[in-house]
Amino acid sequence: MSDESSQVIRILFVEDNVVDVELALHQLKRAGIRYVWRRVETEAGLIAGLHEFAPTIILSDFSLPQFDGMSALGIAQQHAPAVPFVFLSGTIGEERAILALRSGAVDYVLKDNLGRLATSVTRALSDAAEDVERVRQEALIARLNRVLHMLSGVNSLVLRIRDRKELLRETCRLAISVGGYAAAIASTKVPDIAAMQPVAWSGIDDEVTEKLRSYVAESAGRESSVVGKVIRTGKEFVCGNTAAQSATVNFDALMVHAGLRSVAVLPLVIDGAVIAVLVLCARDSNIVGAEEMEMLREVAGNLSFGLQYIQRDTTARFLSHFDSQTGLAKRPLFCERVQRLVASATSRGPRYAAVVMDIERLSVINDSFGRRTGDLLLRHVADRLKYYYPKTDQIAHFTGGTFALISPQGDRTEEEIQAAGYRQAEAIFGEPFQVEGRSIPVAVRTGFALFPEDAPDATVLVQNAEAALHGARATGGKHVRYSSTARLEGVGQLALEHRLRLAFERQEFELFYQPKVSVITRRIQGAEALIRWRSPQDGLVLPGDFLPILESSGLIVQVGDWVIRQAAQDCQRWLRDGLPPIRVAVNIAPAQLGHPDFVRDFLRAVEPWSTKTSGLDVEITEGVLQEDSLTEVNRLKLLRDTGAKIAIDDFGTGYSSLRRLAALPIDTLKIDRHFVAACVGNPAGASLVKTIIALARTFDMATVAEGVEKQEQLDFLWHMGCDQSQGFLHSPAVTAAEFGLLLRHGKGRLIQPAESEELSESNASGF
Ligand code: C2E
Ligand code: CA
Ligand code: CA
Repeated sequence: MSDESSQVIRILFVEDNVVDVELALHQLKRAGIRYVWRRVETEAGLIAGLHEFAPTIILSDFSLPQFDGMSALGIAQQHAPAVPFVFLSGTIGEERAILALRSGAVDYVLKDNLGRLATSVTRALSDAAEDVERVRQEALIARLNRVLHMLSGVNSLVLRIRDRKELLRETCRLAISVGGYAAAIASTKVPDIAAMQPVAWSGIDDEVTEKLRSYVAESAGRESSVVGKVIRTGKEFVCGNTAAQSATVNFDALMVHAGLRSVAVLPLVIDGAVIAVLVLCARDSNIVGAEEMEMLREVAGNLSFGLQYIQRDTTARFLSHFDSQTGLAKRPLFCERVQRLVASATSRGPRYAAVVMDIERLSVINDSFGRRTGDLLLRHVADRLKYYYPKTDQIAHFTGGTFALISPQGDRTEEEIQAAGYRQAEAIFGEPFQVEGRSIPVAVRTGFALFPEDAPDATVLVQNAEAALHGARATGGKHVRYSSTARLEGVGQLALEHRLRLAFERQEFELFYQPKVSVITRRIQGAEALIRWRSPQDGLVLPGDFLPILESSGLIVQVGDWVIRQAAQDCQRWLRDGLPPIRVAVNIAPAQLGHPDFVRDFLRAVEPWSTKTSGLDVEITEGVLQEDSLTEVNRLKLLRDTGAKIAIDDFGTGYSSLRRLAALPIDTLKIDRHFVAACVGNPAGASLVKTIIALARTFDMATVAEGVEKQEQLDFLWHMGCDQSQGFLHSPAVTAAEFGLLLRHGKGRLIQPAESEELSESNASGF
């Protein structure tokens, strides 16, 4: 090797004869070898020489006055096994030569044939270098193997664990037990401030790990520190030899003291921001090479994905409990909180009033000032409520202009409660609201119910307060207690129920269809069937006005069955008319799905004619699939086996965690129109829609946006990769006949005619 000769070698002579040393050096010099040397001639001298001089080669006589060559070889092998040992001696005889080589000497050179010495030394050194390299390679492969195992371990953690701390804790443990690191520490960002805090750690030496942990905790805030720099720059930090590094004094001193030579600090990044760091330390120097770093980057990437996923899941769950506009609890969470309150109340008190209030004529405000002003107004109302009820878990925003609150009443009489309610409403709503330069006066109606007098538990309490509000609307009352209205409500309901029964017998219900349009091609891919009541007395009545009665009376089961049969009939007629096949979704009420004949009736209506491209799908709400609804889940599975797709309606308004949904038979998420409305010009709304779409994709679910009214919303949905769009932008729900025309010709620039058959085939596979 050419550079071997230019290197300075370090020779340790085990030799009593100075002249022999000089002769040997003369030969080496002639061969162009550069060297430094030392001579020893006793056992003690040899041991000291090996350690202090650190030779790269040993040249040893075979017999010395106070020592012998074979013992020297034994000592050298023990203290410096990697240093080549060459005998340089007078005649030693073949047998002893063989023994010497077997014992680990790499060569022997006779003193009367010194011409061979330079070649022998050169070869011994290059062999030794190769050995070192081979050992290094083997160690490297072994290490890479361990890190590879760690990587695959982390991947399965990411798939399995849904808790951030636990994920990091298990990762640290893996880094030690599988990855072969000596210590691992994970720090995550503390919300709202710049700091990071260690949340998980593991190590082979507890004391060392603890020291490192406090260093990481303490230094994260210092921008100049190793950890601080990684957090600030988002760039990984690797050091192969902490003993030689000088830029990061404290850290290195600590590491060196702990016997840790290699360290890697990896940033975990979500959306371009560092949200956590993973610190890995090892005892040996220079072990984090390029390949290992490559794998560690992958570990960090997959961990980041896992954390992001967990975060999104939590955000989605969080947002599903709270109203995104006002930040107040939604109805289910409010009921839960009320339940907790009343559960702790005893028979002697405290008493509570549940109050539900409704902003009068919110729709007029929306119509005259615009939806945006209406939304802002709701936010202002929420803010005032928060001001008067600083314990925000007392208040809630149900839907539209309806707010609710729960307050302790002590032993006030009903009159006192009434009076206090008036005063409170006056205080909160007496002054007009200033919204975007407009002064908007707001009037509210409230209904309330008392616990325990009016209701045995939280659910009924809230329901009865709502019933009281309905009563207030009907009677024009301002602040109405439950019991006084209950009877009135009952009469109204019975009358309406009777009218609906008649309507059903007289076939006054009708199905309208609203197109679902491919966000990419803008072609009609499907439709949703929506029920209408063509009342001879009141004209076309929307489901909002009669569905609750159908549901509470149980009529919904028969009417729902009719909806399925009617939709099937309409579909078949479109097919007969030569229109392109599409899939039509029907809404299924919980009571329908709960009915034992549901699957049988559905299949009867659909099986004779449906194909992959034309048939009926179902839309259900999240609530249907809560906890112990095994039967319902199995029914949906049966439907699905025959080709019907299952969609979750109004997604985002209910309770479900997406993770739970992933285990259910669901093909499609319909993003609730409130989120779609908030997705443009509202970062929280936009991020929620984005999250829902991204998560749906990870679960292989399709997404349909509801209530798309504006081009900007459609553009946003297109960017986010939403599959289908439904809303007034494309078309309102229209009669079956009108829908046939839409299918054939399309309308305006937003809907193309429906797709030809081949096109919808290729699309159906992706959907
Ligand atoms: P849904 O399932 O969320 O249906 C969508 C509702 O949003 C429809 O109201 C539709 O007319 C309306 N909509 C569509 N595009 C837009 C838009 O761009 N902006 C706005 N603001 N609204 C839009 P509809 O027809 O009044 O139905 C209300 C609800 O009644 C439905 O909500 C569904 O839950 C229920 N429903 C309708 N038909 C049936 C049925 O046959 N059976 C059952 N069980 N429920 C039904
Ligand atoms: Ca629906
Ligand atoms: Ca919906």
